[in-house]
Amino acid sequence: MLIGFPKENISSETRISILPALVKKYTNLGIKVGIEAGIGERLYIEDQQFAANGAEIFTDKNKLLSTADMVVRVKKSTTFEIALLKPNSVHISFLDPFNESDLISNFAAHSVNSISMEMIPRTTKAQKMDAISSQANLAGYAAVILASQHSPKAFPMMVTAAGTIDPSKVFIIGVGVAGLQAIATAKRLGARVEAFDMRKETEEQVKSLGARFVKIDLGETEQTKDGYAKALTSEQLAKQRQEMTKVCARSDIIITTAQVFGKRAPILITKEMIQQMQPGTVIIDMAVASGGNVEGSVLGEDVVINKVKIIGHDNLAGTIALHASQMYANNVYHLVEHFWDKEKVMFNVEDEDEIMQGCLLTLNGAIIHPKLKKEVTE
Ligand code: NAD
Repeated sequence: MLIGFPKENISSETRISILPALVKKYTNLGIKVGIEAGIGERLYIEDQQFAANGAEIFTDKNKLLSTADMVVRVKKSTTFEIALLKPNSVHISFLDPFNESDLISNFAAHSVNSISMEMIPRTTKAQKMDAISSQANLAGYAAVILASQHSPKAFPMMVTAAGTIDPSKVFIIGVGVAGLQAIATAKRLGARVEAFDMRKETEEQVKSLGARFVKIDLGETEQTKDGYAKALTSEQLAKQRQEMTKVCARSDIIITTAQVFGKRAPILITKEMIQQMQPGTVIIDMAVASGGNVEGSVLGEDVVINKVKIIGHDNLAGTIALHASQMYANNVYHLVEHFWDKEKVMFNVEDEDEIMQGCLLTLNGAIIHPKLKKEVTE
């Protein structure tokens, strides 16, 4: 049984799917580890460090892909690479399944059993495998650091002989995993922080971090059993935007994190709202990959509208790639360990467990995930 860790295909993907310390853990399960040569180069990790822990180094990526029983990476494989994978092998990575129907069909066509790290259920039992949370947490931190570099202002209040500096005002919209870490980071840096989320229970969490909760009465708001927000009505969204306009206008930095699972992110900041902001305001749109919370934000680009900079960074966790890789690699390891059948020496994709049911997209040549099957037939 060989588990293969190839390099990523996209140059902006700075994260990797294994660190040397995990090689021994896989080996202890009875799994051989294959690493593509140079996988850790950008993180200053030498092949030798993997080899010293027992990994085999493959200089030929195609050979690694075509001999591995399991392939683990951060992002998807290419069509060419999928064709190389062994039938009945397992592929684990982020797959963006709601936007990648051709990719998922391709896995099925080649009888590759594919697991999407985005689809790990948000349950207590699955927490240690939850890569969405581990990466969102780091991204929330990274967003604040990035914003501080673009803002012409310092975060903390300073009383000096040369004069007094007011603290920066930071507004966080969406208080999930990323938002909470963004609040905590901005507070630690000394900013005055305000936050809003449509889920009412977040008010206490915001206050416990020493930030101010912006109260907006949207009436009834719903969430799924997994704790995700459901989409607001257009009337609710209009009210939210109207009430947030003043808070945005007084903020130096705005970080938007609002997402609705499996749907386009809601537009929460319009161009009209941007017109009322102060010159030099920085907005980080953390939902840019799922459509964006800010009108005019562009994935992977910085856009300036009315002297307001809107940053649509496409890989915030990747800006702190070593720690992001460490967390991601641990998440995957916990998944493999959880479903590892020591007696049969195999990763049990046919387990009835709700975690496997939640994240397995294709099995034995068919798309089996209920949410994706529905998408295909609807
Ligand atoms: P997410 O990335 O889907 O969304 C980010 C935040 O945006 C959420 O808090 C959501 O309520 C908010 N949002 C959506 N529409 C909004 C709007 N119009 N205005 C303002 N905010 C809006 O969420 P997430 O960070 O993945 O976390 C969602 C929930 O799941 C949280 O309660 C989190 O604590 C919970 N969670 C539980 C587990 C677990 O039990 N293992 C793991 C991770 C997250």
